[in-house]
Amino acid sequence: MSLREEARAWLEESLSGEFAHVRGLGGPGREHEGHEPRHDWERHLGKAGWTCLAWPERYGGRAASLEDQVAFHEEYARADAPARVGHIGEGLIGPTILEFGTAEQKDRFLPPIQRGDELWCQGYSEPEAGSDLANVQTRAHLDDGAWVVTGQKVWTSLAHVADWCFVLCRTEPGSRRHHGLSYLLVPMDQPGVTVRPIVQLTGTSEFNEVFFDGARTDAGNILGAPGDGWRVAMATLGYERGASTLGQQIGFRRELAKVIETARRTGADRDPVLRDRLVRSWLELEIMRLNALRMLRPEPGPEVSIAKLYWSEWHRRLGELAQAVQGKAGLVADGGLNDLQRLHLFSRADTIYAGSSEIQRNIIAERTLGLPR
Ligand SMILES: Cc1cc2nc3c(=O)[nH]c(=O)nc-3n(C[C@H](O)[C@H](O)[C@H](O)COP(=O)(O)OP(=O)(O)OC[C@H]3O[C@@H](n4cnc5c(N)ncnc54)[C@H](O)[C@@H]3O)c2cc1C
Repeated sequence: MSLREEARAWLEESLSGEFAHVRGLGGPGREHEGHEPRHDWERHLGKAGWTCLAWPERYGGRAASLEDQVAFHEEYARADAPARVGHIGEGLIGPTILEFGTAEQKDRFLPPIQRGDELWCQGYSEPEAGSDLANVQTRAHLDDGAWVVTGQKVWTSLAHVADWCFVLCRTEPGSRRHHGLSYLLVPMDQPGVTVRPIVQLTGTSEFNEVFFDGARTDAGNILGAPGDGWRVAMATLGYERGASTLGQQIGFRRELAKVIETARRTGADRDPVLRDRLVRSWLELEIMRLNALRMLRPEPGPEVSIAKLYWSEWHRRLGELAQAVQGKAGLVADGGLNDLQRLHLFSRADTIYAGSSEIQRNIIAERTLGLPR
């Protein structure tokens, strides 16, 4: 049996039985839905070997080929399985630990991610360091065998449910820009860490402010050498921007189908301008799929900026279209947002996180086209 067939059968069985109630839960703008049952599901996936497929077997993975990983993500989306609660661990910090971690760090941190036992969040952005990440001001120093961390992070997705945070901070006093930064792994459940939720446009709170006030982590919980954190942080961003887009596109396909269905119901499909936008949206999604297939390779390169730019701008336009096809009725949110209203509001964030569109264009200009800064 191919991995695709195996995954399809396993997902169908699991999601019609014990875990039928988690089907379709969670996702952008809906992370508040069923966190606990989705965490149980994450552990269930881990036990059956369906998390971290790309990782070496030693850490619970299957050393799966890219084609098999794509097949799994496609089947996962097709089965309407819930949004993963462990995606930051599996997709961002896990690959970074595999690339930069010591043998002890790999043994300590990778298996609990694979099992779904430990969840992570990303502590990069600060009030004065977003696109300009090199302006990070959070600082840390060594004291009695531990790093002591002080500073503020912001927009930290899922910090309120995370066990660990990977924190980019300044460990060389007086250093500037990308020099003197380190990449620390900090436990969240301690008196020196305060998490304060931020309410989003959707009315839900998926990201947070995180305050480190003398938070401690073992001196060994650093990825790469002290002062070399920038290099490690950039590697993580490469994984974030290159995150498996083929699975994501099945979700997009489903959203587009819902927009078309709504257009038929409201009569918006007879409006020539909206018809044109619907057709364009479909065509661009096909192009996105072909491009993603062309770009499949294990190590992300500068082309991930093209992919990020393309999918996020497309998705934001889809959000606008989702709003438009509802007509006037879409302007009223009676008893909460409907799916298309939520899609419209949350898709505004797509062109901001993981590097805004302007930043992706700068990267393409400078690193791919060789244009001046
Ligand atoms: C939904 C969501 C989840 C997030 N999750 C996390 C998380 O888990 N962890 C984390 O650390 N961060 C997270 N972020 C933060 C995200 O990384 C930042 O919002 C992003 O890097 C932009 O930084 P900023 O918000 O400070 O905006 P700014 O950097 O202040 O940018 C403001 C505007 O100026 C433009 N701009 C800035 N610099 C340039 C330039 N050089 N050239 C051209 N235009 C420029 C930007 O494109 C933008 O339009 C999240 C953000 C969102 C929206």
